[in-house]
Amino acid sequence: MQEILIIGAGMAATALTHELAGHANITLAEKSRGMGGRMSTRRSDALQFDHGAQFLTARSDEFKTFIDKALRAGWVAEWQPLVITLAADQKPYKRDWFEPHYVATPSMNALCKAQLRELEALRPELRIALGTEIATLTQEETGRWTATTKDGDRLGAFDQVISTAPPRQTEALFATTGFDALASLADASHLPCFSLMLGTAQPLELPFDLAVVKDSPVALIANNGSKPGRGSTQSLLVHADNGWAREHLEDEPEQVEEVLLAATESLTGIDRGALAYRALHRWRYAKTETALALDYLVDADRGLAACGDWCLGATVESAFLSGQRLGAMLRERLAG
Ligand SMILES: Cc1cc2nc3c(=O)[nH]c(=O)nc-3n(C[C@H](O)[C@H](O)[C@H](O)COP(=O)(O)OP(=O)(O)OC[C@H]3O[C@@H](n4cnc5c(N)ncnc54)[C@H](O)[C@@H]3O)c2cc1C
Repeated sequence: MQEILIIGAGMAATALTHELAGHANITLAEKSRGMGGRMSTRRSDALQFDHGAQFLTARSDEFKTFIDKALRAGWVAEWQPLVITLAADQKPYKRDWFEPHYVATPSMNALCKAQLRELEALRPELRIALGTEIATLTQEETGRWTATTKDGDRLGAFDQVISTAPPRQTEALFATTGFDALASLADASHLPCFSLMLGTAQPLELPFDLAVVKDSPVALIANNGSKPGRGSTQSLLVHADNGWAREHLEDEPEQVEEVLLAATESLTGIDRGALAYRALHRWRYAKTETALALDYLVDADRGLAACGDWCLGATVESAFLSGQRLGAMLRERLAG
């Protein structure tokens, strides 16, 4: 069987691995300690924050089929939050959602983790290496790729290498490989974001579960405990406006935190004196700004490919479709 290296363990990598498992020996290398990528969760004692993606929607038949399976397995649940729109000096108004919204349970990172752990249990030829950042790819005379980690360890030699990292990170990984789609990769881009995590000493009593904010450095406020399956009811998640985040990306974290906290206080009436926990996370690559409108990028001669949300859109569903379609195409080739 061919040896395939998949870089990343987010939704694109999860869908890709699902398609390829059983058809190749797969090593999945993820730089962080957990799975899920930008479907991520931060924990601190009893507090829990989904500090990346807040929810999922499913519009394509392929993703609806996956979500149906995940609902049956208890990996996701429908979330029906009370949604309002907030703006300074304006009366809040309620917003309706016209399509189902889902969250992974008991935390956003649990969906990729559940799917990948299930595959790992069924398929001995799948190896998941967490805390493993791929730093360099070197082509051997045989045409195979040797992958070396940031710590200088040789991970192995691979017939194919697939990156699911955001485009700038994939560009860096593939810079010296001769990847023939490097120019296309340059067309895709992401906007940044900041996530402010606030934990209160007492359970939150708010007139909303999710607030969409207008004309503010803050774009969204989510009461994390209102999602199904969460234990903690004292966690508030604040996302910055992507445009504001771009302007303030290199500011001191303390300054960014202060602006977002002051805006949250004035929008919600929460007082910082009531906070038991606060933390800021900076996402350099959060939301796709320009997608390629291509399912994936592939250089078949060199055994290199790339996929991710940025191929098709800005959502978890885009990442899923990109990974699944690349996996289906490669599986056909492996079978042929
Ligand atoms: C703040 C925020 C809010 C969002 N809100 C929503 C939302 O409400 N709904 C929605 O549908 N989408 C939302 N999104 C977008 C959604 O999270 C993404 O579209 C989706 O998760 C992307 O999945 P992916 O697999 O393409 O990439 P990622 O999840 O980014 O996965 C790529 C993985 O590659 C790993 N990696 C990178 N470089 C290396 C390396 N050299 N070696 C090893 N591993 C590496 C990374 O650690 C990461 O885990 C949000 C994103 C953010 C950040």
